[in-house]
Amino acid sequence: MIIPGLEVHERRHSRILQQPLAAPRGGIMLHYDDSSRDDWAVEWFSDPRCTNGYTWLVLDDGRVVELADPAYRTPHAGACRTPKANSVFYGIAAATDGLTLATDAQQASIARICAAVIAFHRWPPESTDYPITGHDEEAIWTPESSADRGRWGKLGRKIDPTGSRSDGRPIINLQVVRSCVRALWQGRHESTALRSLSDACIPPGKAVPDDHDGNLRVPIDYRQ
Ligand SMILES: [Zn+2]
Repeated sequence: MIIPGLEVHERRHSRILQQPLAAPRGGIMLHYDDSSRDDWAVEWFSDPRCTNGYTWLVLDDGRVVELADPAYRTPHAGACRTPKANSVFYGIAAATDGLTLATDAQQASIARICAAVIAFHRWPPESTDYPITGHDEEAIWTPESSADRGRWGKLGRKIDPTGSRSDGRPIINLQVVRSCVRALWQGRHESTALRSLSDACIPPGKAVPDDHDGNLRVPIDYRQ
């Protein structure tokens, strides 16, 4: 399945388990994949031992590797507050780990994927925050994942994409991603949103990519 306006740099559908959807799509779940290098991250999803899978993997420089046909569900979410989460949520993973902040290019690229998916489904613009969630906002403990009955049904089974940095900074900043999606929706370039949030969210001294012409890289109408 091709989602209009979604720029994919490479398609690798070979090893990721794909199955028909068991529920309608309703949103997008963000992750990091716990890799430390882009090339290892990409290779891992071709390894026979790899049993998890995201729809898209986003590399440090923002390039997008499509790991599975977005028409199908992949095993990325596990037990969640939302039933059948692997079907309900597309999975996007940033190629990084629990300590290394996602780059601006990664977060902007994730936002572009989200905006294209939201436009494709015609999800209402006023709820653009809602369909984008983090794995840690959904993943719950179950009897299979914890012997502690008190945890069952509660959040805390996953910490991505927030991570566990000692300075508390999230690995993927959902506030930034959602702001970028809103900016795209309003016809502004995502770099505008990155800049407006720079004080709060972008690490000091980290340059916002400035190779833009001020136009949307993806020439589609997100209001359609
Ligand atoms: Zn995850």
